[in-house]
Amino acid sequence: MIILVDMDDVLADFDGEMYRLWKEKHPGKYIVPPSERKNFYLREEMPEEYGSLIKEIYSAPGFVENLPEIPGGVEAIKEIRSLGHTVFICTSPLILFRNNVLEKFLWVEKHLGDDWTQRLILSRDKTIIKGDILIDDKPEITGAETPVWEHILFDRSYNKHVTEKKRLTGWKSRKEVLGF
Ligand SMILES: [Mg+2]
Repeated sequence: MIILVDMDDVLADFDGEMYRLWKEKHPGKYIVPPSERKNFYLREEMPEEYGSLIKEIYSAPGFVENLPEIPGGVEAIKEIRSLGHTVFICTSPLILFRNNVLEKFLWVEKHLGDDWTQRLILSRDKTIIKGDILIDDKPEITGAETPVWEHILFDRSYNKHVTEKKRLTGWKSRKEVLGF
């Protein structure tokens, strides 16, 4: 099988790190903690005037490179690959791509090793990428095509309303949900 795996909030803890840095830099300004988010896009549930401060954090040099791992993700995709499946990391680069694109590769090199940097697909449209399954936290994934992959949700507070898709409740549930 060809398994596509999203990066942010599936392998790398983007939201968690952003929240941590936000509290450190702007202790008086409240934003919704990751565990209580109702919206995939943080900007839709925070005051508009925080927008540029948030962007400053996630577009800063070093932010993506230093993201912590989502527990179990790195081990899981290595293991899935060792079972004979083809695994790609399929990730949408940020519109503010300058540090983001390079640092995605650096993150993968650091956490998974050099050969995994050749398994990285950067696409703002994941529907045009072929595969059997896509593991992704985004509730609805749309684009130019009707996807051929099955979307398996990676559980987050903002995708709880989607009930018709299979759901990974963390990487621990992998074997139970995927069957491998
Ligand atoms: Mg994601």
